[in-house]
Amino acid sequence: MTQETGGFAALDLNPNIVAAVLATGYEEPSAIQQQSIPIILAGHDMIGQAQTGTGKTAAFALPILNKIDVSKREPQALILAPTRELALQVATAFETYAKQMPGVNVVAVYGGAPMGPQLRAIRNGAQIVVATPGRLCDHLRRDEKVLSTVQYLVLDEADEMLKLGFMDDLEVIFDAIPASRQTVLFSATLPSSIRSIAERHLREPKHVKIQSKTQTVTAIDQAHLMVHADQKIPAVLRLLEVEEFDALIAFVRTKQATLDLAAALEAKGYKAAALNGDIAQNQRERVIDSLKDGRLDIVVATDVAARGLDVPRITHVFNVDMPYDPESYVHRIGRTGRAGREGRALLLVTPRERRMLQVIERVTGQKVAEARLPNAQAVLDARIKKLTMSLAPLVAESEATHGELFDRLTADLGCSARALASALLRKATNGQALDLGAVEREQPLVPSFAPRGERTERADRGERREGGDRDRERRAPMPLAEGRVRCRTALGARDGIAAKNLLGAILNEGGLARDAIGRIQVRDSFSLIELPEDGLERLLTKLKDTRVAGKQLKLRRYRED
Ligand code: ADP
Ligand code: MG
Repeated sequence: MTQETGGFAALDLNPNIVAAVLATGYEEPSAIQQQSIPIILAGHDMIGQAQTGTGKTAAFALPILNKIDVSKREPQALILAPTRELALQVATAFETYAKQMPGVNVVAVYGGAPMGPQLRAIRNGAQIVVATPGRLCDHLRRDEKVLSTVQYLVLDEADEMLKLGFMDDLEVIFDAIPASRQTVLFSATLPSSIRSIAERHLREPKHVKIQSKTQTVTAIDQAHLMVHADQKIPAVLRLLEVEEFDALIAFVRTKQATLDLAAALEAKGYKAAALNGDIAQNQRERVIDSLKDGRLDIVVATDVAARGLDVPRITHVFNVDMPYDPESYVHRIGRTGRAGREGRALLLVTPRERRMLQVIERVTGQKVAEARLPNAQAVLDARIKKLTMSLAPLVAESEATHGELFDRLTADLGCSARALASALLRKATNGQALDLGAVEREQPLVPSFAPRGERTERADRGERREGGDRDRERRAPMPLAEGRVRCRTALGARDGIAAKNLLGAILNEGGLARDAIGRIQVRDSFSLIELPEDGLERLLTKLKDTRVAGKQLKLRRYRED
């Protein structure tokens, strides 16, 4: 936010508007507000380019409120937004800024809600209409005059509207509004499609461009983690144990993935919900409200469903699936670090997505440092810290209320204070793993891999331990029993293989006794099986053509070096 003295009061806005803005806690206009407000007040068309989170809403809402003639009860300003969520958010912002301007009416018009009440609200004297283009066109088909009194048109997040395929709808809307109107267009990016709209429909627009990219992004602490595609959910669960977050939004690509991850999180006790395009409108609003007020802490969303979402509580953005392009990466991580707050953004990268990471780094002009998945020790430390924090306030007070009971229980049970306290801890922590061995056993193996060269480099820097559990597993395999050797097949979990399938095949086709077969370890892309050294050649020949889950087993002796 700028250091300009005078702030909002110097902007020539109606004092009632300034008062309402100051009441919301804004102290100074942001850069885009500082520059756009005078231009819009002066009646110019304008193109405003600025990243997410720079305060574009107030940049157009305040001057428009200033221009509205409250005594006229007809639509005067139309704001177009790409999604229902964003339309609602903009409408709410208008209402907030108009708190001290009696007689201002705002209506939000979007799909998924009945049309009748929307149309009635427009006709009943709303001066400001905030709409998604698709639904507005539906209204225009019913009543082509509905926009004939509009004098101010704003396209908010114009690039997103085009991405969502609203080009034709926009043309229809332009035609339905008097040509004498003032038009303002806001967009994070200005691709040629937007410039061509501006050429056709804006008159001598003034340009305002805020180089906020670095500003937006530097408030956000970014990192990436390498994981295999099928290990994303365990990776997220592990990260959540150590990240100290308030509210978090996790981005995935598909509707199904929103449901899967939300379910996995709920199962672990997180207050989580999915947000995707299939979820009914009123339910989506409830999800966002719940995230705002803390009934939910995690929302798992697709890009479209989360567009423009503004929830100040969000401290973390998890990019569980890679965004489709660098712009949506910037958009996504802009959900945190709102209005200069600190935020943290984590990006999961699978081996095939390394290139996209490089593109993101090039476009944002910043390195996204590599982080490692927390190991069992880190998870344990985080759990103990949480437990300690939760007990700290109780320790101060509980002796007065429960001290006598404690004495009585130790006497009744005839045990030491330590024994009773331990029992209570066990009860309170509900079976949660709270020693290193237990955490190690509980945590599914999450390979966070690195290129070979890098691993040695890390080892050289004495960071072996950081390498995580997988390295340990690789380098120090379980000791083999006497007379056993380890064999390897390239079939693994990703081929749909489970240990029992391998066991079954070897028992049947190899004719071995159950006892002859040792440990079977199924990894993602391979499996290891302990077999008797004696007669191994013969066994492997027997199993030469064996298939498991439709694929050739191709078992080979595995030599550890
Ligand atoms: P954009 O549309 O550029 O992504 P928004 O208009 O949604 O950004 O604003 C982002 C956040 O910043 C909102 O929470 C908004 O309330 C807050 N905000 C906007 N202007 C100011 C200001 N001048 N001072 C403090 N906070 C602001
Ligand atoms: Mg916006």
